[in-house]
Amino acid sequence: MEQVKPLAHLALKHNVPYFRSNIFKPRTHPNSFQGLGNRGLPIIEFLLDQGLKLVSEPCSLDHLESVKQFANIIQVGARNMQNFEFLKNIGRRLDFGKINYQVMLKRGFSCNIHEWLSSAEYLEKSGVPRENIILCERGSRNFAAPHGVTLDFGLAYKVKLETDYKVIIDPSHGTKSADLVLPMANGAMAMGFDGVMIETHPQPEQSKSDAAQAIHPADLDEFLLGQRNLINWNNRDRFSTSTYN
Ligand code: PEP
Ligand code: MN
Repeated sequence: MEQVKPLAHLALKHNVPYFRSNIFKPRTHPNSFQGLGNRGLPIIEFLLDQGLKLVSEPCSLDHLESVKQFANIIQVGARNMQNFEFLKNIGRRLDFGKINYQVMLKRGFSCNIHEWLSSAEYLEKSGVPRENIILCERGSRNFAAPHGVTLDFGLAYKVKLETDYKVIIDPSHGTKSADLVLPMANGAMAMGFDGVMIETHPQPEQSKSDAAQAIHPADLDEFLLGQRNLINWNNRDRFSTSTYN
């Protein structure tokens, strides 16, 4: 809670449209921090009380039952992009009559455009309205790259040019290095992508997850000041704390 409070205030100050609230974390090693799980719900309650809209990642259909009670954007992580049985059920489990959910589909780090768009089609067939699907580029595994990952602006821009999906960029997982995050984020906004998703932490070196790519809130503050004319996502469908149990 102490870590989240200053970040919530920063997001509110800049009208950041969505705040990450991933209580479930897909981690490579089973001994790594797996997220707070339902113990994180008091923090979620605080964020909703502040009027923030949330994006959160269910790693399973069980998680989705929890996440859909507080998040407006349901994140499908890179590792689940081709979990077809999961994708087939996402739209079915969401009540679009009640909340105008969006589903953000991250590109698997070895997947091509055809595979990415095919997974988006699975979501659509599951009942997610096409216009509510957001694609998120998060980089490809590349052993020649400084931190083992290359953010693929060309691939993402091709999708932006040739489809009507919103396409956003994740420069945090796409570089794995804090010093590269904001230059890439500025590049993404200058290219006309629909948004960026950025990881920050009040003491980056203490982050339990992805510490090397977490940026300082002061740097995020400066970036957001520069973007103030571009922050314009619509503001429909806020959750209130009474909507989750
Ligand atoms: C994340 O966004 O927190 C994440 C785990 O990213 P990815 O699924 O792209 O690895
Ligand atoms: Mn992360």
